[in-house]
Amino acid sequence: MRWYAVDKRRLPWRAENGEPADPYRVWLSEIMLQQTTVAAVKPYFDAFTRKWPDVDALAAAEEAEVMRAWAGLGYYARARNLIACAREIAAHGGAFPAEEAALRRLPGIGGYTAAAVAAIAFGQRAVVVDGNVERVVARLFAVAQPLPGAKPRLRELADSLTPDQGAGDFAQAMMDLGATICTPRSPACGRCPLADHCAAWAEERPELYPVKAKKAAKPRREWIAYWLERDGRVLLVRRPNRGLLGGMLALPTDPPADVVWQEAGAVEHVFTHFVLTMRVMCGAGDAQAGGEWWPVTDVEQAGLPTVFAKAARRALAWRAEPRRQAA
Ligand code: SF4
Repeated sequence: MRWYAVDKRRLPWRAENGEPADPYRVWLSEIMLQQTTVAAVKPYFDAFTRKWPDVDALAAAEEAEVMRAWAGLGYYARARNLIACAREIAAHGGAFPAEEAALRRLPGIGGYTAAAVAAIAFGQRAVVVDGNVERVVARLFAVAQPLPGAKPRLRELADSLTPDQGAGDFAQAMMDLGATICTPRSPACGRCPLADHCAAWAEERPELYPVKAKKAAKPRREWIAYWLERDGRVLLVRRPNRGLLGGMLALPTDPPADVVWQEAGAVEHVFTHFVLTMRVMCGAGDAQAGGEWWPVTDVEQAGLPTVFAKAARRALAWRAEPRRQAA
């Protein structure tokens, strides 16, 4: 805690100078940080809090606008749950519940996020275990059992360290230590405030922990994206709410029209559970099914999720090839 008081990271969602934390900012940052790095989250967090400075503002926002602002951050179910959660809180007077159990009942808030918000925003004693904390604890105690099987044990050990007072600062101190000193590949044990207590450092093999079970190779899937143009506009459709990239504006993945399709190549994107190859087909004409005709020159502003933004860039590059320009 002494190390944290001096060396903590300055992050836009953190309260400074002993001010109380704002639950809205803590919650928003924790949702954004799930599966995403601090560096990637910062610009999104700034944009969101400028546009929607509190939970009531976010609750009143149009869903399509929030989805567009979220585009590129990935895991889009988080954005839909974000809106649902903001609306539920606004409907109950705009105040976040302080208790871990009540937080957990809100849309999109799992065990980790409930503990983080309860501890950081409300000073409750809660055990907050993210990837950084898991790594620090696995090393401190030289836990030989591999992940993910070791998770309950690591949680138990984190619980045994968590203080009754200041659990929020404690959690953030562990996270910061994991992010800046006890890093995955080359921990800086010589500068670590926990070195005297660390079993992995005593063994001189800290980077062996946490032990991980071998992973199977990711399965592959293939999709086709259709780039249909008409009068300088391209057809975009909103994906159904359920399923991958649900609720996002995207290129159609079923042929939207009976026209001549030409293959423009393919792009690849790695999701958590599989690798997607997306072939890109280009054509011109009118669509039978409805959608939004978006100006081709502005397609970067449409808020397409990353894999579709890649496909759009592939189609644009294909159109710009000299032989097609001549044709
Ligand atoms: S001594 Fe090294 S391995 Fe142990 S907690 Fe500190 S940085 Fe991590």
